[in-house]
Amino acid sequence: MKRLLIRGGRLVDPANTVDEKLDVLLSGGKVAGVGKAIDAAEVDEVLDATGKVVVPGLIDMHVHLREPGREDEETVESGCRAAAAGGFTAVAAMPNTEPVTDDQATVGYIIREAIRAGYSRVYPIGAITREIKGENLAEMGSMLDAGAVAFTDDGHCLASAEVLRKAMTYSLIFDVPIIQHCEDPELVGDGVMNSGITATRLGLAGNPCEAEEVIVYRDCALARLTGARFHVAHISAARSVDIVRNFKAEGVRVTAEATPHHFILTDEAVGDFDTNAKMAPPLRGAADVVAVRKGLADGTIDCIASDHAPHHYDEKEAAFANAPNGIVGLETSFALVYTELVLGGVLDFSTLVRRMSTAPARLLKLPGGSLAVGDQGDVTVLDLDINWTIDKHKFYSKCRNTPFHGRQVTGRAVATVVGGRVVWRRDGD
Ligand SMILES: [Zn+2]
Ligand SMILES: [Zn+2]
Repeated sequence: MKRLLIRGGRLVDPANTVDEKLDVLLSGGKVAGVGKAIDAAEVDEVLDATGKVVVPGLIDMHVHLREPGREDEETVESGCRAAAAGGFTAVAAMPNTEPVTDDQATVGYIIREAIRAGYSRVYPIGAITREIKGENLAEMGSMLDAGAVAFTDDGHCLASAEVLRKAMTYSLIFDVPIIQHCEDPELVGDGVMNSGITATRLGLAGNPCEAEEVIVYRDCALARLTGARFHVAHISAARSVDIVRNFKAEGVRVTAEATPHHFILTDEAVGDFDTNAKMAPPLRGAADVVAVRKGLADGTIDCIASDHAPHHYDEKEAAFANAPNGIVGLETSFALVYTELVLGGVLDFSTLVRRMSTAPARLLKLPGGSLAVGDQGDVTVLDLDINWTIDKHKFYSKCRNTPFHGRQVTGRAVATVVGGRVVWRRDGD
């Protein structure tokens, strides 16, 4: 059994209330020891983490890997390599692939491709409805048997309250979360960016916060009705955060995630029709950004996820109204969160680790998110002192669609360890 010693780093492991200089010994894919000055004599490999921070492997619970179907945009392999380079030891893959991930075979295919690639772990999220058509429930039970960890029709909002209620009731058998892309399609209408002064100035059709709020409220109410676990994907609007906070206070089993772009950028980033600032839900106003940050600080929002959504250059070159939604995020997420929220005084570092590792692991019932003896040996080593400039040309992802190109940030993953094996290490730049 290969033994890896991660030596000399500051271990930050909020699940075990640890924040001190400790070595971590990994053996047989698990954590075999945590302590001061573990003897390196009997190990096969030493990873020197002096001056670095060691955390339970980061987990991105909302990623579009595009395979099967759009291997020109991303593959399981290229996406997992980008994830590892971003410090993520695991990602959850969204089901809006071609074909849709709505059966056992597709779930199994994605898991096998991820194992073959040998970078980050991939946990598929299955579709709630067949072909994401919002009508008939997919084979949730058999997808879970194959390794799916949750269900969503992401990419689309599951608009039918009755179908969603059925899905929630069914999900109770397995106690897995139902994840919703909260945007009422009728209220979104032709909207291509946030309703507001920038949309008016650009002459673009607006997508109001209310399109999100009504679905967040409705589906939290359905979670109360059914007792199911409900998770709000990429929350963007201030009142949506209030709604989640209120339902949580009632004891309803609702959780939420936010993306870096929604708590860093406003709709002004659309600027002069920049399609790299086009996503669904859209970038909102300054008050919404403040509210999402507050939600992350007070725990209303449990997780940070990138909603990594690769699109080809030529697709994003279309007129704003016709360009596809979404941006890549795996290789920028940690640095953006650290720079904006930790250095910006919104979260302390251990809360960042909760939002980006411990909480998504608990929510999806994954091993990981904790580095006690016996836990899974997934570890991220971070350099919190490095200042660097985001350069889209250096991404491992196949796509370059980011509004953060050229941005100065601080903090970066320097090594990513999955199951006790170093799957990625930064050499220089
Ligand atoms: Zn979505
Ligand atoms: Zn998504």
